[in-house]
Amino acid sequence: MPTFPPHPTQVATRLAVGVVELQKQIVAGTSLPVTSPQSQFRAGLEQLSVLCLAHSVRPPAHHQEAVQWLHTPMEQWLGLESTMATAGLSGALLFHGVPTEYAYDLAFRVEGDSNLEIDDLLFKDILEYCQQNRLEGQYTNARQFLVEHSCLQQGTHLINSNLDWDKPIAELLCAIYERIPLKARVTGSETEMVALCPRCGWTLEWYGDYASCYSDLCGRLVERIHHPDRWIPYHPEMVRVNRGVQQYVVAPERMLLVLKSALEQMGATCELWVAVDSYDLWVQFPSGVRWAIDLKDYSSPTRLASAFKPFKRYPEWDECFYVIPDYRKVGNYNEQLQATWKARCQREPELQDIKICYVKQMLKKAERVAGGRV
Ligand SMILES: [Zn+2]
Repeated sequence: MPTFPPHPTQVATRLAVGVVELQKQIVAGTSLPVTSPQSQFRAGLEQLSVLCLAHSVRPPAHHQEAVQWLHTPMEQWLGLESTMATAGLSGALLFHGVPTEYAYDLAFRVEGDSNLEIDDLLFKDILEYCQQNRLEGQYTNARQFLVEHSCLQQGTHLINSNLDWDKPIAELLCAIYERIPLKARVTGSETEMVALCPRCGWTLEWYGDYASCYSDLCGRLVERIHHPDRWIPYHPEMVRVNRGVQQYVVAPERMLLVLKSALEQMGATCELWVAVDSYDLWVQFPSGVRWAIDLKDYSSPTRLASAFKPFKRYPEWDECFYVIPDYRKVGNYNEQLQATWKARCQREPELQDIKICYVKQMLKKAERVAGGRV
């Protein structure tokens, strides 16, 4: 036994990497038998036992009990409540047997070269290519295409048959799509079917009667996720965007399209991802007032507050906003966000003209501006 117990963050991170790795193997159909569990996961469980013993807590006695622990928010682990909470760890690592958004976040922080980042890299390549070649329109179109097509029923035909795409962009777009895994296909009475997530449009994966999306966030926000209404027949040529692009591009930005359409209904002129992604949305109200908006969707309020940076000055704006989805405003999310942000603004005065608000707040403010009441 080591002289010092492991730090709670180390334990949580190792367990998170373990469950995320296991999940990848399960989806790919290459998971090992339970008798030889994935090494990070096993190491995580061993460290958890050491941590428990250091605090005179009985560690999980068998696999089933360990799985129960992983479904329990860490700040509620019996006997370790304050240890985990003091280390800033709150939330469960598993939800209905699949890794939570929080587990992915923890794993992502250590796995610099994880699959997620590699998935996301293809999209970053599109951004770089468009910046270098000043292909502003192609960039906006490519990004919007992905947000509107998280699943393509006829393979990448829709991309290849559109001759307006610059060739390297078409190739990168095609590479972002992957085949539908077995876990997402359900055999109906006659044909195989695929269900789409009511929130983000990705193909749901099935674990018994439980549906799981790219993140447990969908399961938490959509009550009927295990009984989805949108089923489509499966075809072997069908593809979906990879998980990384679904997580970082498609799912959060569906909200952006909703926001854009609401602002347009108020009479504003909007442009998405202007000047090859200076920021998400440029808005001009009939009065001439211009806004710059960037939508940010992070599960951790402290990571979010650290991610804010000054807005680019072009295209010009009068006010700039970071906008956060309303579903994030639960528990002490907002308090933590405001406290971290306030501390940053004191250190970095150039950030002070940035406004931070939630979607509903922003729309209310927009209504006042559009109605000429500000
Ligand atoms: Zn979803």
